[in-house]
Amino acid sequence: MSAKIISFANQKGGVGKTTTTIEVGENLSQTFHKKVLLIDLDPQASMTSVKSNMHQIVDQKLPTMSDVMLGNQDLSNIILNIKSNLDIAPATLVLSDAELNLVNATLRELILKKALSSVIDNYDYVLIDCPPSRGVLTVNALSASDYVVIPVQSEYQALLGMQLLKNTIKNVQSQINADLKVFGYVITMTSHTNHSNEVTESIKQDEYPTIEEIPRTIDVADAAVANMSTYEYNKNSKAGLEYLHLTKKIMKLGE
Ligand code: ADP
Ligand code: MG
Repeated sequence: MSAKIISFANQKGGVGKTTTTIEVGENLSQTFHKKVLLIDLDPQASMTSVKSNMHQIVDQKLPTMSDVMLGNQDLSNIILNIKSNLDIAPATLVLSDAELNLVNATLRELILKKALSSVIDNYDYVLIDCPPSRGVLTVNALSASDYVVIPVQSEYQALLGMQLLKNTIKNVQSQINADLKVFGYVITMTSHTNHSNEVTESIKQDEYPTIEEIPRTIDVADAAVANMSTYEYNKNSKAGLEYLHLTKKIMKLGE
């Protein structure tokens, strides 16, 4: 077994990267019984605070992704189990220091890829929640990945800067990781407004495909609090069903 590695990336914050990573991870592991590792590569550590006990990690000074990125810990030593088939490699704010210290490291773009090699056979999927930047952490995620999913919010501002993210992806593809494939966009928090529809239509004109559209609904936040996917929380939720579709499409990748 060798895991498929998928990054969820967008330099903009608040667009649904963490939510999408968690929804797919929950569905793959709980609904489809795949073995999943979530990697928190965002110094804001919102996935870690939602999925594990941040107080315990800080108080007990447990090792985290910052130790892995600085070469002080094996990835296998920092992984925490969340529930059956679902593990997390947690992060804390300290990861922002690691990002600064990596600037001059040799082969700094390939640290995560190397770290993953020792655990990759234990999982079906490794899902990487990227920081809202195009810095060395995001480049590490893209360099280690088979696929990148781009969550994008259905509002006009979401389109600004998209070309820069695409440049980063293309640079990684041409210089570091020729195997990286762009799976496509997940348009998040859609609504029935003209504005949302117009943005959705414009994203669909892009060179990369749109995989799924996820409506804005309180179910998504409620499910996160309940530590479940939206689908498992409420099997009738439109957003939950769309995230389930996305998960099924991810399971077809590479078939
Ligand atoms: P990012 O990781 O890109 O910063 P998040 O996944 O943290 O974005 O999402 C930002 C906020 O939007 C969170 O509060 C999250 O609960 C909320 N959110 C994401 N998707 C939805 C949705 N489909 N419906 C309602 N709220 C959502
Ligand atoms: Mg996030």
